[in-house]
Amino acid sequence: MKTLVLNSGSSSIKYCLFDMTDQAVVASGIIEKIGAADSLHQFKISDNGLPVQKQTQPVENHQQGLQLIFDSLLQSSALNSTSELYCIGHRVVHGGEYFSEPVVVNDSIINKIKDMSALAPLHNPANMQGIKQALKQFGHVPQVAVFDTAFHQSIPQHAYRYAVPADWYNEFAVRRYGFHGTSHQYVAKQAAEYLSRPLEKLNLISLHLGNGASVTAIQQGKSIDTSMGLTPLEGLMMGTRSGDIDPAMQFYLSRVSSMNNAEIERALNSQSGLKGICGENDMRAVHRLSDAGDKQAQLALQMYAYRIKKYIGAYYAILGQVDAVIFTGGIGENDSWLREQCCSNLNAFGLAIDSSKNSAVDTACYSISKKNQAVEVLVIKTNEELEIALQSVACVKAFSKVE
Ligand code: ADP
Repeated sequence: MKTLVLNSGSSSIKYCLFDMTDQAVVASGIIEKIGAADSLHQFKISDNGLPVQKQTQPVENHQQGLQLIFDSLLQSSALNSTSELYCIGHRVVHGGEYFSEPVVVNDSIINKIKDMSALAPLHNPANMQGIKQALKQFGHVPQVAVFDTAFHQSIPQHAYRYAVPADWYNEFAVRRYGFHGTSHQYVAKQAAEYLSRPLEKLNLISLHLGNGASVTAIQQGKSIDTSMGLTPLEGLMMGTRSGDIDPAMQFYLSRVSSMNNAEIERALNSQSGLKGICGENDMRAVHRLSDAGDKQAQLALQMYAYRIKKYIGAYYAILGQVDAVIFTGGIGENDSWLREQCCSNLNAFGLAIDSSKNSAVDTACYSISKKNQAVEVLVIKTNEELEIALQSVACVKAFSKVE
């Protein structure tokens, strides 16, 4: 039984084909620069020993992109026929308040995803485009939408509402939604497996630290608060995003600088975070600068770790008791220095890192805490594509039963 996961962007389609019997990746790839004359298709079959294949060819639109993906999967025998597919899982960024679970897609679901576009104008229209095309071309395969926001729909109102005029919520849906849901959900499940305890009995603080970064407080397996808000700009300091700021900064800047609203918004999203402080947004480059003595890079690292630590403290307080802190995402999984900084001097919380375990790269899920601590510190490799595949299969199974 195979499942294809599609992540459709405005000019790209990323995909991953899983064999769900052993959850192994059969093939994966990405088409970039769709619409340009030199679109690039990178394609990898997992067990044929060949390196990533790269083809540059014009791919005019998502329809041609999907056809290219299926032709490559069929020609390489990664897939013998589309009837081998149990389902297709689509990543959708914003499900608003409407979607708290994955859904089998049909026309009315597509319209609902369209309704959420104002909340994620860069992502939802592109996600929807991918779903529409896939339904048109491969409508005989069940298709599921899995939402980045869905896991956070369990957050209670006192945590998701902003203290702003109630009409803003009622009329414009202004509230905290949260993102990275599939990643937080996946690593929470992995933590439960590692600790041999039911997820419904676990309290966790999950830190997803990639180019974007967010932290989630998980109580008895459910998200009860998360650092990203109405948009993915709020919360932790990120590669190029500011994270938490005083909202009045914008009004101040519009008075004293020559920047308009759009320029300020662009700067907060793409010129801030690590990049804003030291000029580099890739954490490895920031470390290289810092090691060479660059003071701004050292400051950027200090700020990045300080803000994570503040959230660990805040989420510890709202959870009351914590079973594990999880580090995931490219930075969380690889940056032992940062993990040590974020967890330093937290002995009073029952949280202490063992330096030798922290510096040894282990399996996809391992503990780096000292022995006999109340709080485990876990490093877990995230796998959002697999989580989308698992949720899609479960959704189609449940749907078939109801039908
Ligand atoms: P995305 O959020 O786009 O999925 P990733 O989760 O892959 O991105 O995270 C990308 C970040 O991970 C980059 O800042 C990169 O520098 C960082 N990273 C990758 N490997 C390491 C490493 N060995 N040490 C520190 N940071 C790393």
